[in-house]
Amino acid sequence: MSELNTTAVVEPAAAGQSEQDVPTWDLLSKCVHCGLCLNHCPTYKTLGLEMDSPRGRIYQIVAINDGKLEMGEAFVTHIDRCLGCVACEIACPSGVKYGRIVERARAQIEQKYPRPWLQHKLRDVFYRNIIPNYRTLKTVAGLMRFYQRSGLQSLARATGITRLMGMAGVEKLAPEIDSEFFFGEIGKTFPAVGERRGKVAFMAGCINNVAFSHLNRATVNVLTLNGIEVHIPAGQGCCGALHAHAGYRDDSRKLARNNIQVFLKGDYDAIITNAAGCGSHMKEYDDLMEHDQAFAEQAKQFRAKTKDVTEYLASVGLRPAKKKIGKKVAYQDPCHLANAQRIKEQPRQLLKAIGCELVELPHQDQCCGSAGVYNVIQNELSMRVLAAKMDDVQSVTSDILATANVGCMIQLRAGMAQRGLNTPVKHVMELLEEAYS
Ligand code: SF4
Ligand code: SF4
Repeated sequence: MSELNTTAVVEPAAAGQSEQDVPTWDLLSKCVHCGLCLNHCPTYKTLGLEMDSPRGRIYQIVAINDGKLEMGEAFVTHIDRCLGCVACEIACPSGVKYGRIVERARAQIEQKYPRPWLQHKLRDVFYRNIIPNYRTLKTVAGLMRFYQRSGLQSLARATGITRLMGMAGVEKLAPEIDSEFFFGEIGKTFPAVGERRGKVAFMAGCINNVAFSHLNRATVNVLTLNGIEVHIPAGQGCCGALHAHAGYRDDSRKLARNNIQVFLKGDYDAIITNAAGCGSHMKEYDDLMEHDQAFAEQAKQFRAKTKDVTEYLASVGLRPAKKKIGKKVAYQDPCHLANAQRIKEQPRQLLKAIGCELVELPHQDQCCGSAGVYNVIQNELSMRVLAAKMDDVQSVTSDILATANVGCMIQLRAGMAQRGLNTPVKHVMELLEEAYS
């Protein structure tokens, strides 16, 4: 296979993505095809197909680069089915950076493969118009809230309209939209309670602003109650993780450049996120900007300052909490925290510090099937992956299921509802807030 040119920056292709984003031989050649990753891959375990395994996907990407395979529907299907959970990276003895490979393969698909018209339009509207634009996001969330609260949702479910439209499964995954959005807090500073032990900038996210405002407020409260001054810098925006995972790397870069400028302006000890998916992408800004000379250095600084809130709190140490939770808590590792950022101990340390009796789940590297918007786009497969996770959840006894990512919370709540269970699903920050208030 010929070596690909990784240094030339070219103009965006017709599909709107730069041709610089290709899985390079440098990345691909690390795979020695041993197959040790196969039984860690949820899509391989579910479908039993080599082509839906990490090794099989790498084979196909190499064949595409060599011109031996057509970039057609079959290839796109196998790449689209990947959760991006990077459990394969954890298992790989050869250090294959599979997450980087699949992200670039998806960018290549966006450059070269014409998706069906409607799919292409819907993707464009979602990634380019709704998610990166707070004003549009606010309007769409407002409409969604009206649908959920006006009785329209109950009517659509009762009359079977959602089922007829083939939307029943997906519609149930929509989170409940907040009464009060978090946008109003952007631009504010929250002083530390008692002696100041640190000063951080908080990334509010995108969906968190409209459906998890309470979680963002809990995160700010826990930090300030632990002596941390929290700034929520004005001008910040979506981190671009969903874009990069979908192959929209140019769009992701645009968002990253904005965040780098906004967050590096202040003299913060850390840039904090409570969403594992955002955090893992923010820690990859340097990879995203590798060809952008104006931002490459700042992207490295941004990466160095980015911390998941559990990682940061564990490093500064918690103050004694007002009360102990005193319950059995099963902790589900979000893939983008445990597999991508290798953060496993910190959330467990925090939970133990507030008096949770920690219960360990089997198969901790396994995804719940949420994976950003995967549960919407690949709903049927996502539900099969969730079923395996729910079997693990039901194999232990716990009062609460905790996790550290909003996507996992939505998915696990859907899993609880499907199985008729009422075990609450909570973010680690919600449990900490309970212990401190
Ligand atoms: S990222 Fe996850 S789903 Fe994709 S190949 Fe690796 S283990 Fe399988
Ligand atoms: S990705 Fe790693 S574990 Fe999987 S086949 Fe290649 S070298 Fe082996």
